Amino acid sequence: LSSVGAAMRRPFVAANWKMHKTVAESVTYAHAVVPLVEAITDVDIVVAPPFLALPAMADALADSRIKVASQNVHAASHGAFTGEVSLEMLQGSGVTVVIIGHSERRQLFGETDAGVNAKTRATVGAGLTSIVCVGETLEEREANRTFDILDRQVRDGLAGLSPEQVATQVVAYEPVWAIGTGRNATPDQANEAHRHIRQQLVSQFGDSAAACRVIYGGSVKPGNVAELVGQSEVDGALVGGASLDPTSFSEIVAGSRSTAI
Ligand code: PEP
Repeated sequence: LSSVGAAMRRPFVAANWKMHKTVAESVTYAHAVVPLVEAITDVDIVVAPPFLALPAMADALADSRIKVASQNVHAASHGAFTGEVSLEMLQGSGVTVVIIGHSERRQLFGETDAGVNAKTRATVGAGLTSIVCVGETLEEREANRTFDILDRQVRDGLAGLSPEQVATQVVAYEPVWAIGTGRNATPDQANEAHRHIRQQLVSQFGDSAAACRVIYGGSVKPGNVAELVGQSEVDGALVGGASLDPTSFSEIVAGSRSTAI
């Protein structure tokens, strides 16, 4: 399953800026990063700035291969949801990818698996690509509950998608204890979790779901990306802190090519 599938899964690397950079800073970054990754044509590259910078980033990256992602979305098409942003608004601003259920949103903003599922179904239904984030806390890992947590988050988060839809989506495995801590999962820990996630996808949706890319997030840096993405089940990276500098991010994109065919 994995050796066949891995050859077909193109590396996918996404920058998650979180709440960093003004619109002007975002455009400066866009102009800096494009020439740095121009020659890397065998990796899917995505940048997720804050909402405000999305239109300017989409403009600045329009002639590049870099896609623009939002860090969140509301599942409803419109309505009385103060402070929220719909898929139609995102699409109108050039967004084609949406990060859903990041652990910071789950932990700090009360997002649930049911909420993640509503957002994922709406996003995929509208023809955008979702990056659905899953991952266990340190407490859950130490209690040997990692696989149970991953199974639940994948099962409930992606419920209702068709096998064909799942095959084109992205799941990000982000162990909460590795995010922003400088302490990345070991390559073996990541590979084991990714294999488990892929098995859950296949048991839920059938063999074609093995094509879903499962990317790793949690303290990815230029110095550790090749070893992590070099694992057979790791198809790319979701990068927070180390994505804020264009040179560092471009080195991570380049380092993720080790699995490219
Ligand atoms: C993230 O925010 O998704 C993330 C993985 O952050 P960092 O790379 O800073 O650990």
